[in-house]
Formats: sequence, structure tokens, C-alpha cells
Amino acid sequence: MQLPINIQEVYDKATCIYTQQQIETALDAMAEAMHTKLADSYPLMICVLKGGMVFMGNLLPRLKFQVEIDYVHATRYRGKTTAGDLFWLAKPTVPLAGRTVVVVDDILDGGITLAAIVAKCRELEAKAVYTAVLLDKPTSRLPGGLPAADFVGLEIEDRFVFGYGLDYDEFLRNCPGIYEVAAEHQ
Ligand code: 5GP
Ligand code: MG
Repeated sequence: MQLPINIQEVYDKATCIYTQQQIETALDAMAEAMHTKLADSYPLMICVLKGGMVFMGNLLPRLKFQVEIDYVHATRYRGKTTAGDLFWLAKPTVPLAGRTVVVVDDILDGGITLAAIVAKCRELEAKAVYTAVLLDKPTSRLPGGLPAADFVGLEIEDRFVFGYGLDYDEFLRNCPGIYEVAAEHQ
């Protein structure tokens, strides 16, 4: 397997908009906010694969209260933008009935994906459903999308970014900061 030729060029021409240190300061603040709201509810933290894994992996050790973890993997059908069009590669495995749930994803963009995952958690009778995202593109929301997340790390403009779990053509998820893709690669 060879590296697709443009991945290195995408990385070389991208601009770091948040360093690892800035992200981790934001994670500390999120962990504090979560403690205030959730410490007494022993929440189930549900990681949305694959983008949410670096975020959740770095958030979890900052939480000073008892949590259980699970994951979901869902993709939108190509070209479809309504919640009902979500295709589930993995649904929650832990029973959600009566639980306080925190859905942990990389980024809130149009909001369709998270709206659908939240709806699924409610359908499975979770008692309360919270959402946590590392990044928010507040100007990108679509009709029917989740209007806002309960816990937000950092805001960004409506540009394509990679790093800290977010991909560019499935590569570059391992970059330690958040990088804005150059205009020619957007
Ligand atoms: P939504 O349904 O909110 O429009 O889609 C959110 C999903 O789109 C995110 O979980 C993420 O997988 C993907 N996404 C949205 N914006 C970006 C971005 O700037 N970079 C990357 N790598 N993925 C993005
Ligand atoms: Mg995603």
C-alpha cells in the first residue's frame, strides 16, 4: 500500500489553527463543566467512531467521576441529509434505558448526524441525552440538524479541518493539533 500522493501535500500546505496544548486546555474546561452537570449520574459516554476517538480518549482520563463507555458507528447515506438516512455500522451495545448518556463526537457541522444519534438514544429510552463535541462550526447548521451541543471544546469557521481524530481521506487523524486544509484542497 502506498500513501495516496496528495496526503503529504495536504499536510504540508495546511495551517495549524489549534495546537495540541490549546486543545488540551479546552478539554480541561470541558471536563470541569461535565463534572458540574454529570458527576452524580454515572453517565454512559458513547464515542462516535471514528472521528470521536482521539477526543474521547483524551477526555476520559480528565473525568474525576464514574463513567461507563460505549461506541456507535454511523454514516450518512451518500448525498442524503435527513436523519432517517443514517446507516448504522454499530449501534449502542449497552442498554440505554434509564441512563444518562453523553454522545461524544469530533465536530458539530450540519448537525444531521448528531441529531440522528440523539434520536436513536431517545428511542432506546435513555433518561437524558447530552452531546459533547471537540469542535463546533456554528455557522454551518442545516435544517433538522442538532442546533447546539451541550459541551463544546472550540469553535471554528466553516472550513474543512483535519487532525485530533478528524480525517482527510481517512488519513491525518493522528495529527496532534487541528489543521485547516489549504483552499486548493478544500
Ligand atoms: P453533520 O451531519 O454534522 O454535517 O456531519 C458531521 C460529521 O461530518 C462529523 O462527525 C465528521 O465526521 C464530518 N465532518 C464535518 N466537518 C468536517 C471537517 O471539517 N473535517 C472532517 N474531517 N470531517 C468533518
Ligand atoms: Mg463523524
